[in-house]
Amino acid sequence: MPAQERLLKGYTERQGYVVAKIFSISESASGRKKREIFNAMFTFVKKNNIKVIIIEKADRFTRNFKDSVDMYEWLEEDEERQLHSVKDSLILHKNSRSQEKLNWDIRVVFAKNYIDNLSEEVKKGQAEKLAEGWLPCRPKPGYKTVGEQGHKIHVPHEVYAPIMRKHLELYATGEYSVEKLANMMFEAGLRTSTGGKIHKSRVHQLLKDPYYIGKNVWGGKIYQGSHEPLITQEVFDKIQSVLAGKNTPKINRHMFLLKQLLKCAECGGTITWEIHKGIIYGHCNHYRNCSQKKWTREDEIEKQLITGFEGLQLRNTRIAEWLKKALKESHQDAIDYETSSLKELQDRLSQVEKRLDRLYDDKLDEKIAKAFYDQKYRQYTQEKADIVAAIEKHTKAKNSHFDLGVNLYELSQRAKEIYLKAKECHLLEEQRRLISLVFTNMTLNEGILAYQYSPAFKLIYNAVVETNGSKVANLGELGAKTFEPAKHPDKSTQKGSLQPFRPSWLRDMDSNHDKQIQSLLSYH
Ligand SMILES: [Zn+2]
Repeated sequence: MPAQERLLKGYTERQGYVVAKIFSISESASGRKKREIFNAMFTFVKKNNIKVIIIEKADRFTRNFKDSVDMYEWLEEDEERQLHSVKDSLILHKNSRSQEKLNWDIRVVFAKNYIDNLSEEVKKGQAEKLAEGWLPCRPKPGYKTVGEQGHKIHVPHEVYAPIMRKHLELYATGEYSVEKLANMMFEAGLRTSTGGKIHKSRVHQLLKDPYYIGKNVWGGKIYQGSHEPLITQEVFDKIQSVLAGKNTPKINRHMFLLKQLLKCAECGGTITWEIHKGIIYGHCNHYRNCSQKKWTREDEIEKQLITGFEGLQLRNTRIAEWLKKALKESHQDAIDYETSSLKELQDRLSQVEKRLDRLYDDKLDEKIAKAFYDQKYRQYTQEKADIVAAIEKHTKAKNSHFDLGVNLYELSQRAKEIYLKAKECHLLEEQRRLISLVFTNMTLNEGILAYQYSPAFKLIYNAVVETNGSKVANLGELGAKTFEPAKHPDKSTQKGSLQPFRPSWLRDMDSNHDKQIQSLLSYH
């Protein structure tokens, strides 16, 4: 990316740093490739004792909180180490304010636009979409999305639809295994929505999917679809009988939902996943000495995680509104900074404009020579253009700081919905990503899951605990009124008891280090 490289080189020069090495990650690289480059960069930085990492913006750099945690650890080890995120106007270091760290975390959360993709149809309403005959998911292989936001529909892809049709028909001949078909589909160029190979187990699902005869399956029910079918009922029936004839092929190479995400509470070993008779179990890998024996079903743990997503939902709408406002205000520092930068830039702009006016007057009065005028004119015009560009940039930054808090809030409130939608759409990678965004330090102790919320979500969770609990349930109602102009001056007791609430959780932003494990058993 020459443009990005130029931007970063320019920045690096202005700051007076010497470039040791440039690492670039192409936007289209696979997740694994991106991780490889991230790791290679980190190894290089550690080996050569590099003090400063300069990046374009958060979303080019990290994939999730895990990378972010590695980054914090690296910064914590040495006060001189810095991370510059040029487009985010952020410099992180050991002594960064918690505000800046939170800002970084939120940028990492939103680094992936998958949340927008996933939530688009959640917003519109899945039932409405289905009733109109459209699947509230991304298109399946062979189709593409067209249409405006909120009115997106699926139509056969001009290149991939014929390829997909051909492979479905090939399978119907009974001469290919599912694995062979998966390989042939890959060679023909068919990919998942994220650009990867369509896994054998997914191909098996697709072969059974009446989507290709124009029907939508959602929540176990079949709906008549509005999209154009790729194959006939006859071909579909043949495929089903070929599948049945092969005695439901064993799908052993399975990508597991929680692979690498859980640790054994006793020995810290990774939880290993296995499938037995169609049921997925997790257990300690026992690489170290460990007494944990229990095998736990994946679906049981998933249920507990969904409860965890629910744990972020605020029930009191008045408090919710107020929290949204507080989250916005939590970016007040950043907004203030942008506001004062803007003020300064406006001043400089009017100064330059005055100079240009004076220059013009001087020329009219023939006080200056033409060559001098031309030179000064170019200089001031360039200065003016630079200032106008800077104003634009800071205005954008100010607005984005303003939106961040609100976006985070909305994600937290819809996390469960978004997760379940990803599950319904067979988007395993996205389910995994959402889990690792929201939860951290997940451990298993004889089948019982424990976890913490990631820093940005912990803030919201703490607010939920303060307001949803039975102790404050009524208080929330009464307390909400205290945010209105004081109509009830006599309600001083409620007001008093609510007051400590705000400082207590706002202060928590600084205390991400306390290791309270939120066991699922502890909240109902
Ligand atoms: Zn263990």
